[in-house]
Amino acid sequence: IVICQEVKKYYGNFCALNDISLEFKRGTVTCVVGPSGSGKSTFLRTLNALEPIDAGEIFIDGIRLEHNAASARAIRKDVGMVFQNFNLFPHLSVRTNVTLAPVSALGLGRKEANSRAEQLLARVGLADQIDKYPGQLSGGQQQRVAIARALAMEPALMLFDEPTSALDPEMVSEVLVVMKELAESGMSMIVVTHEMGFAREVSDRVIMMNDGQVVVDLPPKEFFKPANDARQSAFLSKVL
Ligand code: ATP
Ligand code: MG
Repeated sequence: IVICQEVKKYYGNFCALNDISLEFKRGTVTCVVGPSGSGKSTFLRTLNALEPIDAGEIFIDGIRLEHNAASARAIRKDVGMVFQNFNLFPHLSVRTNVTLAPVSALGLGRKEANSRAEQLLARVGLADQIDKYPGQLSGGQQQRVAIARALAMEPALMLFDEPTSALDPEMVSEVLVVMKELAESGMSMIVVTHEMGFAREVSDRVIMMNDGQVVVDLPPKEFFKPANDARQSAFLSKVL
């Protein structure tokens, strides 16, 4: 569903992504791990056309990412993203958060958008919160709304950038459960996370980045074995 070929991204002279060539198959779940500043968020953001790339090519669901607004719009209809800090619209109800983009970007009728929102909020366990505002919800609830909002666009691919890192510990699992169910439903997912239990149990593949490069790319069973790679050992010894 995603093909990246020799992707490079610079911030000034600083190379944030250095020759990333990766393929992601439809229906697979990939976890991306690695130290702070290694380029994980930058990589996800390029896939969602939030960051233009300086070299290489990205194809998502058959669409080649071009450096223009129309291409970015097309990609964002197809690629949902969930952020660490939820990024809900604080002045809009949960219902409107979830119906806004389908109505404005997909041209869905109000009624249809509403019933889609109700279904998705029920799926993430929030049917009874639909008329609240984000500020009235816990972090875990807000993040589940953010997931429902992304799903309302019926994306082919979902990107998650540390979706549980801003949550109090007791709320982490309710979000991971929703993500696990989504994975089991066959959604294509790329998940930047420090949740090694999730990576081990749910993912098909674990990618480790370091200094803007992919340094490990293995199935979880292999990834979590005692490593030959020194950076992987160092990373694992910190997070496990
Ligand atoms: P973390 O685990 O802390 O979220 P990360 O792996 O997501 O880290 P990125 O946010 O992708 O790392 O950043 C990669 C590098 O690019 C870092 O050195 C960062 O300082 C730099 N960087 C990121 N965004 C910008 C920007 N807008 N302008 C300049 N430099 C940036
Ligand atoms: Mg990041």
